[in-house]
Amino acid sequence: MKNLLFTLALLISFNSFSQNLAYGNEIEGIEICKQLGINTQPILLDKEVNETLEQILSIVGLEKNFQLQMCSNINNAAALTYNGVRYIFYDLDFLNSISGENRWFVTFVLAHEIGHHLNDHTKDVFMYVNGFPNDVTLDKRRNQELQADKFAGFIMGKLGSSYSDAVNAISQIPGDEIEDLNSDHPSEDLRVKALVEGYSQATGTISGMNFSKFEGSNTGEYLISYYNGVEKFNNGDLDGALKDFNKSIIDKKEFPEPYINRSLIKELKGDLYGAISDLELAMKWNPNLDILYVERGVLKIQLGKYESALDDFNIAISKNQNSLEGYFNRAVLRYNNLLGIYQSNISSDFNQVILDFSKCIDIYPNYLEARNYRAQAIISGLRTKQTDHLVDTAINDINISLEYVDDYEFTTETSLKFFKLQNHANRAIINSYLGNFSSVYSDTNIIIDYSKDSLNTEIYLEKFVLGNLLKFNLLSDKNSLYYDVSEICKNLNDFTSIINPIMDNINLNNPLIFNGINQLVNASIYEYDCL
Ligand SMILES: [Zn+2]
Repeated sequence: MKNLLFTLALLISFNSFSQNLAYGNEIEGIEICKQLGINTQPILLDKEVNETLEQILSIVGLEKNFQLQMCSNINNAAALTYNGVRYIFYDLDFLNSISGENRWFVTFVLAHEIGHHLNDHTKDVFMYVNGFPNDVTLDKRRNQELQADKFAGFIMGKLGSSYSDAVNAISQIPGDEIEDLNSDHPSEDLRVKALVEGYSQATGTISGMNFSKFEGSNTGEYLISYYNGVEKFNNGDLDGALKDFNKSIIDKKEFPEPYINRSLIKELKGDLYGAISDLELAMKWNPNLDILYVERGVLKIQLGKYESALDDFNIAISKNQNSLEGYFNRAVLRYNNLLGIYQSNISSDFNQVILDFSKCIDIYPNYLEARNYRAQAIISGLRTKQTDHLVDTAINDINISLEYVDDYEFTTETSLKFFKLQNHANRAIINSYLGNFSSVYSDTNIIIDYSKDSLNTEIYLEKFVLGNLLKFNLLSDKNSLYYDVSEICKNLNDFTSIINPIMDNINLNNPLIFNGINQLVNASIYEYDCL
């Protein structure tokens, strides 16, 4: 079994990591939580919160263009934009502790935050974090709160909340009894009044709400052209986006986002050096922003400058101790180097790689791609006995990945089906190493089943061959409960009947496929005389 492992571990395939900064995703949300100095929670998006958001959006007829992000310990919810993406941050413990039996409170909080977004009250995260001057007076802020409350009341009315549940929900918010002119939140009386006004509009006592009046903006010109650029980018208009980003940079040269996205566009157009120089322009104004160094490192990898890329990831981590992308990319770089995929003079070992992936998982426990990589790195280390003490960690990573992946948003271009296949394969490899036969048996059946319809894709064919090899080893191992000579021939015949018709199209330069097929076909002919 040990020799087999040596070969099998190489069957794992790798996704290169590339940032896609123009889109919002969970990882960016986590990064923002970090920027705000907040710990994230180790559980996936709460289903109730997500469903409530969808109900609210169905009322206003909007697509789900809000990213929900859980942040623990903020004792609140907050609406912020980042990169043109609207985020709603919420503290699940806070929602649960206040709402109790009254689930309308959750609806109220989310609708209130969406109200801020739709009314364009929302602050950009960069303004928030970098402390850009805020021209919004306290008086105006209090008024914005009332607008958001009115919107929440409207939504609750439309969603069928009773009048008393609606008023109850807003009364649960800890607030001031009387109007405090030094506060950014209005008094409870005024808030209830605003909520009731919205509620009445929704339930028909006053004519329907006019959403067009929510347009208008208090953001700077540079943000407007920036967001226009993001929208054009998302619609595939790269040149239009480029013009908008250029304008945004002219209006506010220290704002880093347009540089990053301009860099991304240049990368997409193949101008890697141009992409790097944009990041370096942004560094001039934002020398401590870790993501700029990470992005430059990713570009340097594409140029084959691995040592210099490693320097960049190190700088990113020195600038931000919680640089998720910094740790992730450093680990992937070192891992690919260890496996010989990258040729460089970087010295690295499995423990360093695993430590970095572990750091990612500490920061963001739901980072399934990091868990997938950590499990693979542990398997690779088994060959040299460096990671035997970590097999339980690997199995745990795989189990978590398989359990949560259906609700997971990938940060890299990864297919859900292949991700699952890869995890079943990794688990089967480890369990065959450990001699856990029943687990190997069920996983190999899944591997064969998942891969057999996609054999025209090489990575699926690799897994198909792997699954059959593992199953063959199981059935032919006298120590296993599954030892069964008649089953061996049945399985080998099934394998050859699938492989034979497609032999002409198989890439036999792939040693994993070539050796695997050879071994299985030879066994069927010479060892067991199955024909
Ligand atoms: Zn508010």
